Amino acid sequence: MRVLVTGAASGIGRATCLRLARDAKSQGGAAKIAAVDLGPSPGLDSLVADLTALGADALPLHADMAEPDAPARAVNDAVARFGGLDSLVSNAGINRPGALMEYALADWDRMFAVNTRATWLLAKAAYVALKASRGAIVAIASMSGSNAHANLGAYGPSKAAVIMLVKVLAQELGRDGIRVNSVSPGMVRTGMTQSVYADQRVAAERDALVPLGHVATPEDMADVVAFLLSQDARYVNGHDLVADGGVTGTLLGGLPGLSKITRS
Ligand code: NAD
Repeated sequence: MRVLVTGAASGIGRATCLRLARDAKSQGGAAKIAAVDLGPSPGLDSLVADLTALGADALPLHADMAEPDAPARAVNDAVARFGGLDSLVSNAGINRPGALMEYALADWDRMFAVNTRATWLLAKAAYVALKASRGAIVAIASMSGSNAHANLGAYGPSKAAVIMLVKVLAQELGRDGIRVNSVSPGMVRTGMTQSVYADQRVAAERDALVPLGHVATPEDMADVVAFLLSQDARYVNGHDLVADGGVTGTLLGGLPGLSKITRS
């Protein structure tokens, strides 16, 4: 498995790299993983050390997914080192909350550049290599891409666009044998959300909201990504896989007065 993962130094990206490295090892092989993140960091260093310990060939790459040329540079570096590419995980994402009436243009543009445009540019750059390997792409969207969420600025719109971008890519690339899907996580404990879960009361309230009883771990999401990249998902294309523990389905169950409904 030759894979490029963006936003690899933390959270879902990190867990995905480790899961893919373990999978390759357990099958008697060695994963080749291009781990892309903004710049040098202790998180990226420790990931490379962990991947190497798992027998993987880890290639750390520094690239800002908001820069127009960065996605192609990262893909080209990975293809040159590994001699091709089997999978692409467009995971890097940012969140800049705010009410839309006060939202800054620069924040809107950066959110769309990192969260949305980079997935298109990565796919474009990886197309020839993925066509050769009949590979797969997974983009990390969000439950906020299909459920309106006030005061999150451009986050929801940028993730809704990712979900549709993936569906269009699936239509265009399917005939080349390239599958394209997205994962929409619910609430996950990662670097992005650590300030929220540092408050034990808020963390417990969030756990209680989820039908499965707890907020997700990055590994819960990495396992879903690994499934979509695997042969087990060979007929899944253009799908948004919501992995939210059931939380986005809870609205109607909380309606006031449900116990007063009489049988008819
Ligand atoms: P995280 O902050 O732990 O990890 C994100 C990584 O992306 C970091 O290592 C960061 O340095 C990197 N990154 C940020 N901007 C970048 C850029 N411009 N170029 C390259 N790398 C960049 O967050 P996470 O929760 O693991 O987020 C991963 C994905 O999951 C994101 O797309 C996020 O929107 C999505 N998501 C997260 C949650 C959640 O609750 N944590 C929920 C739904 C969706």
